[in-house]
Amino acid sequence: MWIAGSETVGGHQALRQGPAPRPDSDAELASREREALKPQLRAVIVCRGCGWLLTDRSAAIEVDGHHQHTRFNRAGFAYRIVCFRDASGCRGLGAQSRDFSWFAGHHWQIALCRGCDAHLGWFFGGRSSFVALIEDRIMECESSAS
Ligand SMILES: [Zn+2]
Repeated sequence: MWIAGSETVGGHQALRQGPAPRPDSDAELASREREALKPQLRAVIVCRGCGWLLTDRSAAIEVDGHHQHTRFNRAGFAYRIVCFRDASGCRGLGAQSRDFSWFAGHHWQIALCRGCDAHLGWFFGGRSSFVALIEDRIMECESSAS
């Protein structure tokens, strides 16, 4: 019996290093590839509204001893905020202000999503530099490293 392809696709055979795949071995391979990819997944913080990548979970920091804070604006509206070293997915809006600052020794500036312009939090600068994001306007997800 003559088996088609055993010579003509010799190069491919060599690359595959094994017998022709059984129907389920492609799935096996795919799952092995997913396993191999796992360490490269990183937790990221994205805009809940548009999915824009804002920062890395690893950029989370504590300010005044806490990552998460609840603060009230002048109108009495409560914001639950979480602090990060930086958020390159946000852009500042308007002038920096020292008015009614939530963190002593810091001035602030409004932080918008670069993807959809939603108000996501505030940049703080001065004694230290960080960004506080409004918890229910962001979410954490996994992204493959790029
Ligand atoms: Zn957005």
